[in-house]
Amino acid sequence: MQVQKSELPGKEAELAVALPNGRIRCTACARYCEIPEGKVGLCGVRGVLAGKLRLLVYGRVIAGHVDPIEKKPVTHYMPGSEIFSIATSGCNWLCAYCQNYDISQRRKVEGTEMTPEQVADMAAQYGSQGIAYTYNEPSIFVEFARDCGIEAHKRGIFNIFVSNGYDTPDSVRMMGEFLDCITVDFKGSGKQEFVRRYIGIPSADPVFETLKEIREKTKIHVEITDLIVPQVGDDLESARMLCKFVYEELGPDTPIHFLRFHPDYKMMEFENTPIATLEKHHAIAKEEGLKYAYLGNVPGHQLEHTYCPECKKIAVGRYGFSIESWNLDANNCCKNCGYPIPIVGKPQKTRKNYFQFLS
Ligand code: SF4
Ligand SMILES: [Zn+2]
Repeated sequence: MQVQKSELPGKEAELAVALPNGRIRCTACARYCEIPEGKVGLCGVRGVLAGKLRLLVYGRVIAGHVDPIEKKPVTHYMPGSEIFSIATSGCNWLCAYCQNYDISQRRKVEGTEMTPEQVADMAAQYGSQGIAYTYNEPSIFVEFARDCGIEAHKRGIFNIFVSNGYDTPDSVRMMGEFLDCITVDFKGSGKQEFVRRYIGIPSADPVFETLKEIREKTKIHVEITDLIVPQVGDDLESARMLCKFVYEELGPDTPIHFLRFHPDYKMMEFENTPIATLEKHHAIAKEEGLKYAYLGNVPGHQLEHTYCPECKKIAVGRYGFSIESWNLDANNCCKNCGYPIPIVGKPQKTRKNYFQFLS
């Protein structure tokens, strides 16, 4: 029986190329799945129906949560903002330690039906200054994110991706249409043995390529995170290579966050990353000339703060996701010595009525 177009789930995907063998190549992420009729790609949310690639989770939001921008983590863009954070099901990575595996490793099309207008309206209704596309890899649903992001801009709301960076020139081009900020998450500093075994990708090379593409072709604010996993993803030489790359390709002002691992999903036998290990990574970032290195998931640690690179005093004092002190003048220069700190925006008024839904 012929499938009626109106009965098809989701929406036709734009990042797709028809191949001579009848399959369709998805160009949303660096997996570049070649998908036959009736099948889905590895992420489980882009599939071929009636001869076209469809984004099956278009308009299906599986989680929504308002949280501080510092939780992403983003510290140099609109500090103190509250962010309406959404996800769909599915993911293009298979991280063995995923904290959101209930969402990311679902291969079912589930979630609350929401149009892009409704997503943007809900963000505005909750007083959020931004929308984050997060919890799973947003490039797999980039067409939906783009449509939400355009609606967000109409309401004066900015857009953030929390991304693994396993993207393509096509998805970066689409990001450039609506994205204001991205935090690209390395894991184990991108070391090949680690990403093969614990993420299920051949190498992190596409992540480095994505960052270069973003820098060359867009104006998106970029921050870097690196999840440091004890014993298997804490190699200092790999961290040094990552820091050198960030310095040379993105610049010394690019913030880098070394995140503490805690056991989850299939890696329950591992321990939390020792603080001393994180401090060694931080020291390498400084040795390589990065001016703004942070530790994450260690509330109360002195390396959560933003330090002035010139006079070494605390420019922005932080505790966890909170801003405790703001020692910058009207132009975001250090009040002590006048050095310009590259932070976009100023602390926003905070609200307390955070909420959450999960389908
Ligand atoms: S987004 Fe999904 S379908 Fe497309 S290439 Fe990546 S894993 Fe494959
Ligand atoms: Zn200073």
